[in-house]
Amino acid sequence: MEHEWHEVGERVFRKRFDPCDVTVTAVVGTDGVAVVDTRCSVAEAREVAEQIRRFTSAPVRWVVNTHAHFDHAWGNAEFLAPRQDPPARIWGHASLPARFDLDDPFVADILRQMRAAGPEWAAQVAGLELVPPTELVHESATIDLGGRLLELRHHGRGHTDADLWIRIPDAGVVLAGDLVEESGPPAFGLDSFPMQWAATLDRALDWMGPDAIIVPGHGEPVGREFVSTQRGMIDAVAREIARLHAAGVKAADAPAEGTWPLTTKELRDAIARGYAELT
Ligand SMILES: [Zn+2]
Repeated sequence: MEHEWHEVGERVFRKRFDPCDVTVTAVVGTDGVAVVDTRCSVAEAREVAEQIRRFTSAPVRWVVNTHAHFDHAWGNAEFLAPRQDPPARIWGHASLPARFDLDDPFVADILRQMRAAGPEWAAQVAGLELVPPTELVHESATIDLGGRLLELRHHGRGHTDADLWIRIPDAGVVLAGDLVEESGPPAFGLDSFPMQWAATLDRALDWMGPDAIIVPGHGEPVGREFVSTQRGMIDAVAREIARLHAAGVKAADAPAEGTWPLTTKELRDAIARGYAELT
């Protein structure tokens, strides 16, 4: 299904893109456009750059990666010279550059999966150009788009150890990356922190304001209640991991021994990571 661009807040445009049903957001200021997340490849990011012209002629001057995962950050090079001149400034969490290294185990694993996924993905791998952010955020940063601000915050670990939240205060919009998922369950991968995720959501909820429109990394925008409910599910997973770990249940037996709000497949990495955090 082909999605369209939606103006989720004043001059804040978002669209869900396949593959991966990943959300890209374009925030338009007087001095230029900030693009949040860049899809899986330069070719896919080029589609974004072209489609943004439908609603603004302003240059893309800033790119923000919510986190390092391939579907959010591997199109960065589209917004740099020689493809774009002058280049945009690329922002991300301070831990991100290491995740753009081809020798990084997570990168190597994704590349392996892409090559195995068929000729279309293999072609993407062949044309890959990984460019990390150079504007690095430890805790917080603010970007002035000209007449409006973009606030970047790291509220702690969860989906990864290097997720950024982005708030556009004058539009009441918050971009959550994959810390919030609407089109599927929360994604616990082998780089996630299941035992810390709920507390991160608590801090983000305190920060975002009562009427925030929250744009997930995948799916449709949601409100605080949805995030609170998802926080409850993540907390339930963490509590069950802690209970089973304390009872001496082996990780391999935890899916069958516990009571869970997710399927065994969705839980597998959460349990592995949770046990690693507790041990
Ligand atoms: Zn992700």
